[in-house]
Amino acid sequence: MEIRCTDRELFIFEQIGKAAEALQLPCYLIGGFVRDKMIGRPTKDADIVCLGDGIELANKVADLFTPRPYVSFFKTFGTAQIKLEDIEIEFVGARKESYTHNSRKPEVEPGSIEDDQNRRDFTINALAVSLNKADFGKLIDPFDGLGDIERKNIQTPLAPAQTFSDDPLRMMRAIRFAAQLQFEIAPETFTAIKENAHRIKIVSQERISDELNKIMLCEKPSVGWDLLFKAGLLPLIFPQMIDLHGAEFVDGKGHKDNFYHTLQVLDNIAVNTDDLWLRWAALLHDIGKPATKRFEEGHGWTFHGHEVVGARMVPKIFTKLKLPLNEKMKYVQKLVLLHLRPICLTKEEITDSAIRRLLFDAGEEIDNLMMLCEADITSKNPNKVRRYLQNFELVRKRLLEVEEKDKIRNWQPPISGEMIMEKFGLSPSKPVGIIKDAIREAILDGEIPNEFEAAYAFMLQKAAELNLQAVE
Ligand code: ATP
Ligand code: MG
Repeated sequence: MEIRCTDRELFIFEQIGKAAEALQLPCYLIGGFVRDKMIGRPTKDADIVCLGDGIELANKVADLFTPRPYVSFFKTFGTAQIKLEDIEIEFVGARKESYTHNSRKPEVEPGSIEDDQNRRDFTINALAVSLNKADFGKLIDPFDGLGDIERKNIQTPLAPAQTFSDDPLRMMRAIRFAAQLQFEIAPETFTAIKENAHRIKIVSQERISDELNKIMLCEKPSVGWDLLFKAGLLPLIFPQMIDLHGAEFVDGKGHKDNFYHTLQVLDNIAVNTDDLWLRWAALLHDIGKPATKRFEEGHGWTFHGHEVVGARMVPKIFTKLKLPLNEKMKYVQKLVLLHLRPICLTKEEITDSAIRRLLFDAGEEIDNLMMLCEADITSKNPNKVRRYLQNFELVRKRLLEVEEKDKIRNWQPPISGEMIMEKFGLSPSKPVGIIKDAIREAILDGEIPNEFEAAYAFMLQKAAELNLQAVE
């Protein structure tokens, strides 16, 4: 075998070869697994293509292992999967595909291994390795995919325009692989992407967003986003990002290009975290800037309130991109909303009450928020960068001190809404909120200590101001 497999993987492939021989179904390891092994990337899902029925082969393979792995299959697609420890193996019969322009659904019929390689998206994904007795381990590489791996080159095996028109998702995949593997897309292939970009509209949002998330998880996600921009795909799939692009000038004064600033922030944060949603927060942190941009005489460019507008845009963007509308979205939204708060702190005297407020508002997210703020420093001036980082260091120190003293993170004020309602015989209503907020504010401001007794006395005082009578 020319590819470097573990002993366990080799054993599994030998068993697959045996099962295939018993059934007289020649079979091959193909696609991403072969590519990643050649590159030396970790990979856990292996695709097996056989000249016949993939489900039959999967069952025969399963028979050779104890305990017998569960075989899941889709009769209509003729595919089957088994999982052996942490390796997922997918079986499918070799296919020949032809597309007619009027239909997105390809005509599929059984084919040879060459037919199956022809329908693969890129030369680097079309490599196959024989698992058959006569030539076990032999690489079958009709399009010099191995050469393209060496040259770090992404190109389609057949005419690129046809490949992308047949399945436009492949344009996203090309860009994702370029970002993931740090490969280049061949010029003709990239030109064909530009020419076929409009076809992306026929692809389901779920498939598009899967690719976006894979781009987001790359070591340098900016590569993928910049290629999406240069290919002309970005305006079609995520127009709000395009609005960040470019710098406007008035009286010779320009603002920074927020698109490239955003990409820099994303790359910065990617150095420190693999958290997909923190990366999305970095991508979206300035998304409200275009809508709030003003040129103010004597001041220059301002983006007042862009964090509020940006936070409001997050649910819309998540809905459109079919990203989860759950606590992940709320987390992104919260970080976008709060992303200027630590910066504001560095510009003024850092009072205990300002620190308490930040701890209260950010709660569990405080460390991630600080990480986002530090990633947001993209100045080219090393002195400025050093100064900003020092300021944040000071904020972090003060956060620790105040948290140690006041325990505000995950804090709930000592008097709850229920207690107020009970004391004054109120149903949920405005005065309850007023008193509750006043108690919280008084504690955060340091007017009263964070203790039940003090808060209780303060509640009585506030209630008296509102002419509320306690019920005994
Ligand atoms: P990854 O697993 O990292 O997403 P992969 O290349 O293994 O990358 P899969 O989606 O697992 O991608 O697909 C396995 C193989 O199937 C690919 O290597 C490629 O040969 C083929 N393939 C997948 N999607 C397409 C497509 N849209 N068009 C043509 N071939 C495809
Ligand atoms: Mg794969």
